[in-house]
Amino acid sequence: MTPFTRGDPPAVLVECADEATASWVARVTVNRSASFAWPVRNGVRVSQAIARRLTELTFGHCCYCDSFPMDGTGEAQLDHFQPKVEFPQLAFAWPNLYLACAACNRAKLDGWSALLVRPDEPGFRFSDFFLVNPSSGELEARPGPNEARARETIRVMHLNRPGLCTLRSDAIKRPNTTVAPESRPYRFLLQARDALG
Ligand SMILES: [Zn+2]
Repeated sequence: MTPFTRGDPPAVLVECADEATASWVARVTVNRSASFAWPVRNGVRVSQAIARRLTELTFGHCCYCDSFPMDGTGEAQLDHFQPKVEFPQLAFAWPNLYLACAACNRAKLDGWSALLVRPDEPGFRFSDFFLVNPSSGELEARPGPNEARARETIRVMHLNRPGLCTLRSDAIKRPNTTVAPESRPYRFLLQARDALG
């Protein structure tokens, strides 16, 4: 998880958010299984504009595991940090939307806890929360004041899933120094050498 600063939302989201939120709240209140759809404005699905804006802010990395390119296929999904059924008022709220790889999105599903760490929360630094085991690639919660939040984040987002640990370990052992830092996966490993346990 690499920090980023959340800039302004895309204009199309601002334009449609109130109306789309009211419609979604009304539908999901009577039917928790109601299907969710992003509105279309000027022929463009609003989710595409949001994903494009988040891609600019994160250089196309997954907001949670920092994989890049996402899943090797460039497939990116939008995750509602606070789930859209449980928190329908936040379904179109810019601060609640994150770019996630398919694996993180699938792992997190509707899981949520107030303890979860956000990469754009003020002052967030990877090494204040997490340690990395360089041989296994596993993340550990750094002992101290953030320990419970780190542990819950690893659990809910499945940040120690086996394939991801292997990729992380490879990135430590064989860093690809031929590409710019923003184009390397798991940038937090570069930014937080002291996070290596
Ligand atoms: Zn991910």
